[in-house]
Amino acid sequence: MKTIWCAFVALISAAVSLAGAQTTETLDVYLIDVEGGEATLFVSPSGESLLVDTGWPGFDGRDAERIAAAASAAGVSRIDYLVVTHFHGDHMGGTAQLADRLPIRHFVDHGSTVDTNERALTAFQAYADIRQTGIHTVARPGDEIPLTGLNVRIIAGGGSVLRTPLAGAGAGAANPFCDGFQFQGPEITGRSGDAEDSQSVSLSITYGEFRAVIMGDLNWNDEHALMCPNNNVGQVQAYFVSHHGSETSGSEALVHALRPRAAIMNNGPRKGGAVQTFEILRRSPGLDDIWQNHYSVVAGSQQNAPEAYIANLDEGEAADGASTPVHMSASNWIKLSAERDGSFSVTNSRTGHSKRYAP
Ligand SMILES: [Zn+2]
Ligand SMILES: [Zn+2]
Repeated sequence: MKTIWCAFVALISAAVSLAGAQTTETLDVYLIDVEGGEATLFVSPSGESLLVDTGWPGFDGRDAERIAAAASAAGVSRIDYLVVTHFHGDHMGGTAQLADRLPIRHFVDHGSTVDTNERALTAFQAYADIRQTGIHTVARPGDEIPLTGLNVRIIAGGGSVLRTPLAGAGAGAANPFCDGFQFQGPEITGRSGDAEDSQSVSLSITYGEFRAVIMGDLNWNDEHALMCPNNNVGQVQAYFVSHHGSETSGSEALVHALRPRAAIMNNGPRKGGAVQTFEILRRSPGLDDIWQNHYSVVAGSQQNAPEAYIANLDEGEAADGASTPVHMSASNWIKLSAERDGSFSVTNSRTGHSKRYAP
């Protein structure tokens, strides 16, 4: 009886040490709608949480509120690791407002902004002030973020990329999609790649046979450094589409080599979601579906996924400001649940539409 009681006490204290976190058999991922920014919450089977980016500042805490709502749905009462991919407002902006709602224990980022204008420096300093309330780690490619039951590895960060292959999933093989890689010059968007985007911290997240990557806003040209001549990441089940689906990221050398079955895009109605991105995804070998956080106005009916695969259908704020203000739109998320055997399901919270992908 005493042995049973001790085991019971040990079980209770283990549960308490996870601060009320719920344990499951799945890795759950919430692609939270932050209107063309990034906020993606990963909850490990042990109940630990890793949030990639915090969306935009302002809007009365809109994005932090949406993150907190997803955390609540996931049974998460704190952020164990916050990875801020880079210091643009759509990625770190909601940090202070989030910290008012949920404790954040560890901060992982690439160090300091490389933008030197006053506005960027002020925004960075506001983030850095919150960062000093927790434990701070500078991300280095190859480093691991320790979440029980998962293998979370940094594959790019601070302008450097992974140089030795990850384990499994075909990592380390020559990448045939490097042939014919076209480097982007300034003619694409008037610049050959934003300097702060180039610093993006990108992650590979593996749970058993399931692997996903989330890239931040890593630029097209940086993808060549990461993926060529060898694909050191391997193949993935899910690709969280880089840079909101902008045409300055998401090359064949990255996407086709990763060979995802599902691509999930954090575009806004009028941000990212580029025609070229859709075209490259649709040509990607083995891709079953594209899921989107928003309908992409620029991509039109030709390119957007069927409505069942789009979490938010509003068209956002038009250039003349005449239609729905961006902060008034609905907020639905895309949820992915992965099993250890590599199978996973993706669900659109707007409709409840769910699709399962077999191992
Ligand atoms: Zn961005
Ligand atoms: Zn950016």
